[in-house]
Amino acid sequence: MDFSYVSHLSCPKCHQTYHSDQPHHLCTCGSPLLVDYHLDDLRNVLQPKDLSERENSLWRYHELLPVKKKENIVTLGEGMTPLLPMPKLGQDMSISCLLMKDEGLNPTGSFKARGAAVGISKAKELGIQEIAMPTNGNAGAAWSLYAARAGIKATIVMPKDAPTITQTECAVSGAHLSLIDGLISDAGKIVGEEIKKHDLYDASTLKEPYRIEGKKMMGIEIAEQMGWKVPDVILYPTGGGVGLIGIYKALKELQSLGWIDDKLPRLVAVQATGCAPIVEAWKKGKSESCFWSDASTVAFGINVPKALGDFLVLEAIYQTDGCAIAIDDETLLSELQKIAQLEGAFVCPEGAASFAAARLLRENGWIKENDVVVVLNTGAGIKYFDTVRNVLFITK
Ligand SMILES: *Cc1c(COP(=O)(O)O)cnc(C)c1O
Ligand SMILES: [Zn+2]
Repeated sequence: MDFSYVSHLSCPKCHQTYHSDQPHHLCTCGSPLLVDYHLDDLRNVLQPKDLSERENSLWRYHELLPVKKKENIVTLGEGMTPLLPMPKLGQDMSISCLLMKDEGLNPTGSFKARGAAVGISKAKELGIQEIAMPTNGNAGAAWSLYAARAGIKATIVMPKDAPTITQTECAVSGAHLSLIDGLISDAGKIVGEEIKKHDLYDASTLKEPYRIEGKKMMGIEIAEQMGWKVPDVILYPTGGGVGLIGIYKALKELQSLGWIDDKLPRLVAVQATGCAPIVEAWKKGKSESCFWSDASTVAFGINVPKALGDFLVLEAIYQTDGCAIAIDDETLLSELQKIAQLEGAFVCPEGAASFAAARLLRENGWIKENDVVVVLNTGAGIKYFDTVRNVLFITK
């Protein structure tokens, strides 16, 4: 049995295919590339029960990951985060089964560790020596630290307003860090120039195909943790949308393997009112989003004015009868406090936005009382102590 069942890369727009043994970024048509697997072969050799003896990290599903040789795995123990009941908060929202997938327990304090673990492992397998990327904070932190573990150099460009802890994580790992006065989209332009100048490996969101593969494991783990059933609704704080695209991809792969049945959860993209391009596009029934000017929110991880994979996010929403919804900063920060007070969980602002979205969607009837609802808390609240401290102590 092979360690990985990866077959090739393919373009979701024009269906061109590429080898997974050479570095590739975007398709020649400009679309991100997705990783395909030999699922028909795998279906005959792997069963859910085979997983029970395996390690408690996302690498337990190595057949569904793109790294071909075990020795190329770069891990800090990411994945298999808990799926926790939130009974008091659920009661407060009148949702009878509310669960939190707590990604704050990942190395580097956010689910970005998943994408970094798989992305860096594959970069190592491809012989890459130096990566570069723009970031809103958590991705840069995760990729810097995993790159250090792999012996790969990293160039990171970040808005100067990004959480100081994430800047510190980059700096302490020895990454080449630049802080800029602007948004992630501005950082992206600078990274583009650096890549051309120094021939670096572009690890920008969706410009390398493997980050999605790490993040898709959230979807597989949710299904496993629920006994190979899926919830009715999954809410996800959406910036670049990689997590949502990944969860959707994972569920389709599980269907192909015959591990879950036909019904998919309704996927909800949660954004901030200060930056809601996907929500706007969804409201108008469009298949792509428009650049959001003057984007701003305390939920820094979802402050993405235009995502390269917007069409894939929207497709996942349409295909699952999901929706997109925006939450303002005041509402998400008060939800954040409520979650800490009712459940003892210190979630990140992005996660809090998703809980606030569940509350709103329950109020307007889109979520039913007996729906099983999973909210992704994408990071640890302690990474945002400055944001939260300001709200609690300074505005009072
Ligand atoms: C990056 C990030 C997000 C958004 O993730 P995407 O997959 O890019 O949509 C959400 N929450 C946190 C904490 C993040 O760091
Ligand atoms: Zn293409």
